[in-house]
Amino acid sequence: MTRRQGTGLLWGKFRRLSGFGQAGAVAVVTCSQRCGAHWACQLGCLAVELFAKQEWPSMTSAKNTPFTGPSAALLRVAKGDLCAGCGLCAGLAPGRITMEMTPPGFPRPVQTADLSGPQEAGITASCPGLGQTSARAGEGRDPLWGPYRQMVTGWARDENLRFAGASGGALSALAAHLLTSARVDGVIQIEADPANPTGNRTRISETPEQVAQAAGSRYAPSSPLTDLADYLASGRRYAFIGKPCDCAALRALSLRDPAVARAFPVILSFFCAGVPSATGAQELLDKMGVPADQLAAFRYRGNGWPGRATATLQDGSTRDLDYHAAWGGVLAHHVQHRCKICADGTGVAADLVCADAWQADAKGYPLFDEAPGVSLIVARTRLGAEILAQAEAAGAVQTQPFDVADLAAIQPGQRERRRALFARLAALRLMARPVPVYVGMDLRACARQNPIARNLRNFAGTIRRAFTRPK
Ligand SMILES: Cc1cc2nc3c(=O)[nH]c(=O)nc-3n(C[C@H](O)[C@H](O)[C@H](O)COP(=O)(O)OP(=O)(O)OC[C@H]3O[C@@H](n4cnc5c(N)ncnc54)[C@H](O)[C@@H]3O)c2cc1C
Ligand code: SF4
Ligand code: SF4
Repeated sequence: MTRRQGTGLLWGKFRRLSGFGQAGAVAVVTCSQRCGAHWACQLGCLAVELFAKQEWPSMTSAKNTPFTGPSAALLRVAKGDLCAGCGLCAGLAPGRITMEMTPPGFPRPVQTADLSGPQEAGITASCPGLGQTSARAGEGRDPLWGPYRQMVTGWARDENLRFAGASGGALSALAAHLLTSARVDGVIQIEADPANPTGNRTRISETPEQVAQAAGSRYAPSSPLTDLADYLASGRRYAFIGKPCDCAALRALSLRDPAVARAFPVILSFFCAGVPSATGAQELLDKMGVPADQLAAFRYRGNGWPGRATATLQDGSTRDLDYHAAWGGVLAHHVQHRCKICADGTGVAADLVCADAWQADAKGYPLFDEAPGVSLIVARTRLGAEILAQAEAAGAVQTQPFDVADLAAIQPGQRERRRALFARLAALRLMARPVPVYVGMDLRACARQNPIARNLRNFAGTIRRAFTRPK
């Protein structure tokens, strides 16, 4: 094949896949893999973003233009083990992509039929496994913590909700306030799956009581975007609570499709160190001495701060483990690959984000056994700041000032992953492993906060581990 023929093929392939048109195709000829490894590729990716914004077909009006064969986007995600499990691809292509549990216990997309051009383009532009672009909005912009307008600590004024929440119940209180103030008709969120108590399912909460039932962190996979098409078809307005990667996917889609932006006027998230597999949950049950067939209910934490991982058996008895033993001793060892190279554990795409605001030891564990819960609350957008002010005025949350300079000590896991990422990604690129394309995520600035020796150690460690991981 001549070089000209090769370029023509790439051109045609991209136009068919993306539906972006000729201009977008020109840009991507420099960057067929979105590898982000060199200047031409970075330019190509930026150009794709620009053209995508101009020519994005609305999901609700897109014609199903024919596309044959397996999804190039999903193939790339699978090749790099880059899936975060958000479910967006299944939500964009209902009946053609389903989310199925795969070993060692992560939901992954399975394509069962051809995708249309717009469906493939939607996945290519919004899948967090392929990349993430951060808007440079907000009054403050800290390289480690992203854009924000306000950062405070706070808690739910409802004492029961404060107790039930993972931290101070602020995230649930804000979501409940969105319902009572009629800003949204429902809240899309995660709760325990009654059929599989260590697992998760997605629910629509329509009352503050339903939001409260779902309070607490669940350190297990969730795919809250799987039923996206149904939410859009309902014509209702939802607040969405998801992991930062779920929110990045939804925000990317919202920026391109006004129908999605209308359906999801508010996006809420939490800091996220990573999602462990179902195998991790099983190991936790084994450590607690709980036979899976006798499990009736399971909480990973909450009901106190930080609260204990608590299994309730069918005979009503309970077994529990403290946060340190449950997360650090078991679950943290079962986190998926995408989380280890995540540039956004702090929800930069959300309007409001909550996290733990405890005084921590060097590994990030709280310096106390139990205390009244306190959430860190980050308003990233003007809308987020407005909602926070209204929720406080309405008596839903109470807040206190917080100094962003204290955050790096409270969140050592997030801090170190951000600082290490530039070196980790460079090593994976050198090994020709696909990595997500991160734009506007300040990774160079974060790496500069590390001594050169530590960056080199991260680089070498990633190469060593890449040899032991399957390609
Ligand atoms: C996998 C995971 C990793 C985390 N890592 C960190 C971290 O590194 N640093 C940190 O400070 N905090 C982390 N958190 C968040 C923290 O545990 C609290 O959720 C956060 O502090 C907010 O507390 P809150 O009391 O305000 O929220 P709550 O009022 O308890 O509300 C929590 C909300 O999160 C939703 N939710 C729970 N689990 C999931 C899930 N798996 N997927 C999607 N939605 C879910 C619930 O539906 C609920 O709406 C993590 C949480 C999870 C689930
Ligand atoms: S990260 Fe989300 S959109 Fe991308 S492949 Fe996985 S489930 Fe699909
Ligand atoms: S660490 Fe990143 S990729 Fe992993 S679940 Fe959390 S937000 Fe998603």
